[in-house]
Amino acid sequence: MTNYNFSAGPGVLPTPVLTKIKDEFTKNEFTHMSIIEISHRSSQFEEIIASAEERLRDLMNISDDYGVAFIQGGGSTQFEMLPLNFANRKNKIAVLDSGNFAAKAATAATAIGKTAIILDSSKDDKYHHLPMLSPDFHADDYDYLHLTTNNTIEGATYHQDNLPKTTGRMTADMSSNILAEPYDVNQFDAIFAGAQKNLGPAGVTVAIVKKDWLAEQNIQHVGSMLRYQSYLDKHSMYNTPPVFSIYALDLVLEWVQEQGGVDSMYAQNIKKSSKLYDYIDNSSFYQALVDNSARSLTNVVFTTNNLERDQVIAKEAAKAGLFNLNGHRSVGGFRASLYNAQPQEAVDALITFLKKAEKEYK
Ligand SMILES: *Cc1c(COP(=O)(O)O)cnc(C)c1O
Repeated sequence: MTNYNFSAGPGVLPTPVLTKIKDEFTKNEFTHMSIIEISHRSSQFEEIIASAEERLRDLMNISDDYGVAFIQGGGSTQFEMLPLNFANRKNKIAVLDSGNFAAKAATAATAIGKTAIILDSSKDDKYHHLPMLSPDFHADDYDYLHLTTNNTIEGATYHQDNLPKTTGRMTADMSSNILAEPYDVNQFDAIFAGAQKNLGPAGVTVAIVKKDWLAEQNIQHVGSMLRYQSYLDKHSMYNTPPVFSIYALDLVLEWVQEQGGVDSMYAQNIKKSSKLYDYIDNSSFYQALVDNSARSLTNVVFTTNNLERDQVIAKEAAKAGLFNLNGHRSVGGFRASLYNAQPQEAVDALITFLKKAEKEYK
């Protein structure tokens, strides 16, 4: 029996990457000089961090107008860093409340003394559709618009073709779909993504920030560790960076390049997710709740409309080697995370299992 891991985060990593990591830690077992035991100022590590940046720039077509930083503290720290660095003129940000993490970003901005205005929210609809900018939105009233491209918990996504159109600055939390589908980086002024969903292990967060926007900010009162400029000035080595996480991130990025880059990941992800959504849509037992055009490629959320039964089935699935299919505790139901490293076979095995469960529990 092959096991498959549908965890939403930290999520599945490519097997060849795990093998390389294992080899890294056994090849030097007598000298104890693996990559996590030497200076981050060593040439070995300097090459790795430079390589990770170069690969990310290559995969996302990031121009020199943007700086790339590797930061600790996860997406949640970015909820505070973004407004600390960029909400300094109006002291006010606009938020489209498309899910739990968007709402958290608004709360975090408020906690550091900024105003966060929720322009539109789909909360009353349990976040099953995407909130949108209304025609009377005035970008000039805000320092920026905060967008969550993929709503990891609820499964709704602003794909490239339905991004909100604003004349103002826009930032994106891409934690759970960065490199899973193409986005035009030039449409954003800052992007961040915690690594643990689609990029590697937890511990490092990627931030891509527009240099000219950063240069406009007068934020000497903000501590160095919370200023993007400190990271850009020192190539993310203002202090000791999360060496292991960046090492693993570089291996994952190399793997994505070997697979043919984002376009090829995107084609695979469309194939995986459509197969699953098609099965669910054609079944009278399961139901996907998110609006068709907004459905996530990376987090497929569905239910049998009986939360207790969902739990029983998810437990049975784990016995059959299909792990971590429970929906987020705030939502219930099922969530199948189909990140880049998830093989097509995992989806096939899941559909076979769901068919069997449908017969058994209907
Ligand atoms: C997981 C996640 C976060 C939170 O990340 P942490 O690293 O746990 O702080 C934020 N935004 C999105 C979209 C996420 O999926």
